Amino acid sequence: MPAFFLAATKGDFITALTGLTYERAVFFHTWLAILSFSLVTAHVGIVGFYWARPSYDIIPKYPKYVYGIIGYVCFFCLVFGNIAIIRRYAFDFFMLNHRVHSFIMLLMAFLHNDKAKAMIIVGIHLLVLDKVLGRVYGILHSKKSPTKGFSEFELVDDDTIRATVPVKISKTNPNNWYRLLLFKYGTWLAGSHVYLNVKKVDFFQHHPFVIASLPSSGNITLIIKKRNGFTKKLFEKVKAIRDEQLANGINEDVAEHQKPSDPNIVKLKASFRGPSSPKYQPLITFDSVAFFAHDTGASFVLPVCLDLLQTIEKREVLKDYLGRPAHSYIKVYWSVKKASDVLWYNDLITKLTPFINSGKVSITVFVEEDDEMKTIEHNPFGVDSKKISEVVSVESDSFSVSNPTMKYVYEEPMNVSKILQTHIASMNFPEQESYRSLAVLSCGYGSFGEEVEYETSKYRWGKDVPNIYFYNESYNT
Ligand SMILES: Cc1cc2nc3c(=O)[nH]c(=O)nc-3n(C[C@H](O)[C@H](O)[C@H](O)COP(=O)(O)OP(=O)(O)OC[C@H]3O[C@@H](n4cnc5c(N)ncnc54)[C@H](O)[C@@H]3O)c2cc1C
Repeated sequence: MPAFFLAATKGDFITALTGLTYERAVFFHTWLAILSFSLVTAHVGIVGFYWARPSYDIIPKYPKYVYGIIGYVCFFCLVFGNIAIIRRYAFDFFMLNHRVHSFIMLLMAFLHNDKAKAMIIVGIHLLVLDKVLGRVYGILHSKKSPTKGFSEFELVDDDTIRATVPVKISKTNPNNWYRLLLFKYGTWLAGSHVYLNVKKVDFFQHHPFVIASLPSSGNITLIIKKRNGFTKKLFEKVKAIRDEQLANGINEDVAEHQKPSDPNIVKLKASFRGPSSPKYQPLITFDSVAFFAHDTGASFVLPVCLDLLQTIEKREVLKDYLGRPAHSYIKVYWSVKKASDVLWYNDLITKLTPFINSGKVSITVFVEEDDEMKTIEHNPFGVDSKKISEVVSVESDSFSVSNPTMKYVYEEPMNVSKILQTHIASMNFPEQESYRSLAVLSCGYGSFGEEVEYETSKYRWGKDVPNIYFYNESYNT
């Protein structure tokens, strides 16, 4: 029972102890639930069979049997209310169903059970502790925030919002062992996500979004795609306030921290639970790292890449080569709808620019649709590269290790299979000086991660291929 609950916690506790990512832990939560449901169904079936015999009175005689029946009905609703189609199209209903029925089911299980009460209590307390701690951290962040939780929301596209949540940054090291067990306070690891709540949009809902910034920026930046529920309501709210500000000007009667600097920016009070950290292997140990991002998957990939490059740089200064290659071969492959989408991440790309210019990383952006950015004559980030308007083909020199450019590939969808093949071939395996270990990280919507995983797995057992580690940060639930 405690394992079943622990697997659904949002903090870093289970991740730190087991190395399981949140996504994998939830997988266990689901399967342990299905296993217990099967066992409970067998129990109900056997008991029902005996009750149905003529020698037994059909009506349950003791309250504990009634509790058992109610508990089983709730368990049934929990399991069947959790099917993918309900989660996809009616997430709110799924959450409400989950909370109400799990509460009643646990209470009934507690009353029904004679011998395993302790397990139920331990399990519930672990979950409650996780929720309460997450909430307390959220309140603390909000109270200590330089703007009392007021955050900036900006529409950067027809279906994308950039949220900037100011945070009081603490100087503590997020990598201390005890910090691995708790939510991080005032800091986070690259690739972490928070559960965002905007009370004016929905009082109860908390939604996960990856932090597209590093703690040194002092802000939690989130790039949010409009879907059909909370994100759509948030988009419409921000749009309505922005349009009003553009028409009537900014409201001057509010406190300074509530006043936006620009009428295009909307200030709303936001809070969050978390941050929760991802769990991937230390990337610095790999000879080569290939990052794959689709659309807002860059929120995960770019901070992780920047963090890796900054860590390598710090170790370079110290001449510390222990447990890492002298030269890492790092590439980012990023597929976007329009070239201008890269501007959502201007802060991160500006920080990546020195590394791009010095050839420590190369970024290839695959642009699905033509847009006005193609005609811009200068590079928006000042990267020492070819003009943004230049069409660079995958077959061209774009894969050489020494080419210090940020490249744009137009109207050619990202071909993961071809990219991986070229990436691995350019690692020159199995020559003496070649690279031997490769980490592949991916992030994106839908089946993107699965596609990268599938393509990567083809190289797992091949001849003359590097040792490959794969990690996917999934946006699916
Ligand atoms: C770890 C993680 C990080 C994410 N990071 C980002 C990000 O940086 N940018 C981004 O645009 N999206 C991100 N997502 C996806 C984002 O959380 C969902 O798109 C958002 O919650 C949808 O809200 P909605 O009510 O508008 O969704 P709906 O239109 O109602 O549903 C769309 C999909 O979102 C899922 N969903 C709905 N509510 C929730 C919820 N409370 N928690 C989890 N999933 C939910 C549903 O299963 C459904 O498949 C991330 C998801 C996860 C799990």
